[in-house]
Amino acid sequence: MRGENSGIDTRAPAHGACRPGKDDKAGARERPVNAARELVVLGTASQVPTRERNHNGYLLRWDSEGLLFDPGEGTQRQMSFAGVAANAITRICLTHFHGDHCLGLPGVLARLNLDQVAHPVDVCFPESGREFYHRLRDVVPPFAGLRERPVGAPGPIPLPGMPFALEAVRLDHRIDTFGYRIVEPDGRRMLPRRLAEFGVTGPDIGRLQREGALRVGDRNLTLDDVSVVRRGQRFAFVMDTRMCGGVEELAQDADMLVIEATFLDADARLARDYGHLTAAEAAAAAQAAGVRTLVLTHFSQRYTDLEGHRLEARKHFDGELVIAQDLMRVPVPTRR
Ligand SMILES: [Zn+2]
Ligand SMILES: [Zn+2]
Repeated sequence: MRGENSGIDTRAPAHGACRPGKDDKAGARERPVNAARELVVLGTASQVPTRERNHNGYLLRWDSEGLLFDPGEGTQRQMSFAGVAANAITRICLTHFHGDHCLGLPGVLARLNLDQVAHPVDVCFPESGREFYHRLRDVVPPFAGLRERPVGAPGPIPLPGMPFALEAVRLDHRIDTFGYRIVEPDGRRMLPRRLAEFGVTGPDIGRLQREGALRVGDRNLTLDDVSVVRRGQRFAFVMDTRMCGGVEELAQDADMLVIEATFLDADARLARDYGHLTAAEAAAAAQAAGVRTLVLTHFSQRYTDLEGHRLEARKHFDGELVIAQDLMRVPVPTRR
């Protein structure tokens, strides 16, 4: 498959529509109504924002979850342009404490407070940067729902109420940096024709799903008789890093990979020296890992035109290729 997507879709979003709950109790979460899965790109610039590109910022909408990754400077305003309400955010993940990945955090926390967002919001960040985190947090009034989740080692991050696993993987940058991956567990898709064949209806369907087996007449039905495995989806977020095993691990089998492509191969030496990837490296890693939708971002201000990134990546990657632009929306591909 060979597809490309470079248009900006700024259609009015429906997802900010979740309301703060009146009777929110300890740990209760509001469930937004829209079940779509998409990436809302809030910014695509590394180091220095440009006229066209805000600092980093990405909201992943995943059913009732809204994961905000690496809110750089200006993220709060970009959210307004993108139509993302503060209460759409359920978790925040920081890869590292360089300014283009975290200077927007105070504004976002202030906004959560101002809008009286009623559900808790987890903030994941490298534990070694706790001091920087505290500085960013403490310049704004405290948001009561804040749940701090420092990440000290690679592995799953225990988060209450999460319908999928969120895993951190160490990357190779100039300071301590973690990439993140969402791994949805496999599910089951019931086959209506098979259910009808065996005469399973109504509450018996739920019982079979819960218990894995059901007695029908003189036969013991199992889930395998009436359903097939529905593979869980994967999303990976890889920011500032040199090529390393962590990139390969995060990218493996990702339905969508959002990855930095700060430089082009002509500037590979800069990439190496400053701990970054080229578009070619990112694309080759995605191809080897079986990625379906590849989103390149975090571009150096030295490139005003990103056609070079597209051409370079296309030499190595034959799936859906997206050169990210601010305020773009990229759907997570439908299940296989
Ligand atoms: Zn950066
Ligand atoms: Zn960095």
